[in-house]
Amino acid sequence: MIYLNNKLVPDRKALISVYDHGFLYGDGIYETLRAYKGVVFMLDEHIERLFHSASMVDLTIPRDRKSIKKAVYETLKANKLTEAYIRITVSRGAGPLGLDPDLCPKLTFVIMTREFSKYPAEYYQKGIRIAVVKTRRNYKMAVDPAIKSLNFLNNILAKIEAKKMGAYEAIMLNYRGYVAEGTISNIFFIKDGVLCTPSMQVGILGGITRSMILDIAKELKILIKEGRFWKKDLYKADEVFISNTTMEVMPVTGVDDIIIGNGTGSITKMLHKAYRKKVVNYLKKEGK
Ligand code: PLP
Repeated sequence: MIYLNNKLVPDRKALISVYDHGFLYGDGIYETLRAYKGVVFMLDEHIERLFHSASMVDLTIPRDRKSIKKAVYETLKANKLTEAYIRITVSRGAGPLGLDPDLCPKLTFVIMTREFSKYPAEYYQKGIRIAVVKTRRNYKMAVDPAIKSLNFLNNILAKIEAKKMGAYEAIMLNYRGYVAEGTISNIFFIKDGVLCTPSMQVGILGGITRSMILDIAKELKILIKEGRFWKKDLYKADEVFISNTTMEVMPVTGVDDIIIGNGTGSITKMLHKAYRKKVVNYLKKEGK
């Protein structure tokens, strides 16, 4: 079942117009969430970011946070899912051809869910390989990567490159050549015990997992450096990992042709363990 606008409908009946500006122009925003044991993790934070993205593209969501939360849980229940991947999509809606957002009187609101398929255990045990690609991350003053928008061609072009290079994830540099982020992930590395990650100023999405990792590092008294880094900083790192809502903390053992450390690093493992603990505590608070 799909939640479309105000109600649940079967998949095959969940149809939207070819005039939808999300389809025509990538005009819209979205969120990806994960449910553990039927509890949607960090739901408030994801809804907050949805509203933030909406405000950055001048889109008014005519619903309150509570009703969106309710709709997410209704969709999950209707699909009898507990371990799930959830996507909320809000597009500008249908309107005549033309870019003017005022052409679209009613936005399209969709919640989709599917069973969560686990990443292979060996990715976590052995680490993955990433590639720094030629495609640069969108310039912050053009299409700010902090907007989680439907306009994903930048990321898709990077993904195509990574696939050709046999890498699992593509890392994009920003327009000045500083390390920015992956196509669906934020990047971190550890050098001499310091946890480093590109700052928001570089032009990245403020990942919810990224914020959590930074909080955890503070709690564990790990030194943090948010800033500007070059590709060569990744090459010389002791540990590298990427993060997002579905993969959590994913160790990286290869960047381009460079082997990082000697297997998955101890700080990465420690951070992932602490992240998992946060998930467990969150579920406990929700009565699971
Ligand atoms: N960066 C990009 C471009 C993303 O698409 C994502 C998530 O899909 C992230 C970072 C990580 O964000 P989060 O931790 O909120 O899932």
